[in-house]
Order: sequence, then structure tokens, then C-alpha cells
Amino acid sequence: MLPRIIHIQPLAPSKPDFGQPCNGCGVCCLHEPCPLGMLLSGKRRGACAALRWEASLAQYRCGAMAQPRDVLRTALPKGLGWLALLLLPVLRRLAGRWIAAGQGCDCSLEVSPGQPDTRSDRQSEP
Ligand code: SF4
Ligand code: SF4
Repeated sequence: MLPRIIHIQPLAPSKPDFGQPCNGCGVCCLHEPCPLGMLLSGKRRGACAALRWEASLAQYRCGAMAQPRDVLRTALPKGLGWLALLLLPVLRRLAGRWIAAGQGCDCSLEVSPGQPDTRSDRQSEP
């Protein structure tokens, strides 16, 4: 697969090696959504719409876990925002199953820094 450029916060931590503790670098979710992220984003490639940057922690967080109401309101079509309250418990259950929160990094992408004039980019190659 060809290398791809992903746009990432300059203060995000570097991606750890596969199997090391997840540090919220965001590379996996910026590269492509997980199954839950595909539902929430309405796409199979590119950055997940549910991903959130936590400036105070300088880490990315899964919005399905950290800000589920906000994520649902964004994902639901206009006029169906009221469904967010009903779907909240379902989202939490799904997120807990799909997200390896607190576990090792399960992303095998190789990451290299971007060019000097695009220092907020890191290239990823699966
Ligand atoms: S699973 Fe890995 S690539 Fe994804 S955010 Fe955690 S450390 Fe980064
Ligand atoms: S873990 Fe969360 S932010 Fe990452 S792709 Fe899945 S739904 Fe999106």
C-alpha cells in the first residue's frame, strides 16, 4: 500500500511500538476508523469523525468514550438529535467492546515525520 499523509497535532506523542501501552497518539484513528468509527463517520477511510484532541493532556481520545453525547449529536442526521439520549447506552457498550482502552497499541502502521515545512504531518505506511 502506498504511503499516506495524515494530519496530526504537533504536540501529539509519537506512536509507540506495536504492543506497547497506548499513549493516545491518534495515528490509528486518523488513518482509518474502527468498525464503530465507520458507523459514526459514515466512511471507511480517513480520520474518524469521533476522534477528539484533548489539549490539556496533549493526547487524542476516542469521543465515543470521552464525549459520547457530542459524538452522537454530530453523527445523527439533522432532526434526529433527540435519538442521542436513547443511543447513549448502546454507544458506550459498543465503544467498550471495540476500543482497546488501557491495552497495548494494536496498530502496526509505520510512521515517519513529515517534511520540515509540514511539521504537523506524519506519514504512515501500513
Ligand atoms: S492504539 Fe496505538 S496508534 Fe492508536 S492511539 Fe493508541 S498508541 Fe496510538
Ligand atoms: S476508537 Fe473511537 S476515535 Fe478511534 S476510530 Fe474507533 S470510534 Fe473512532
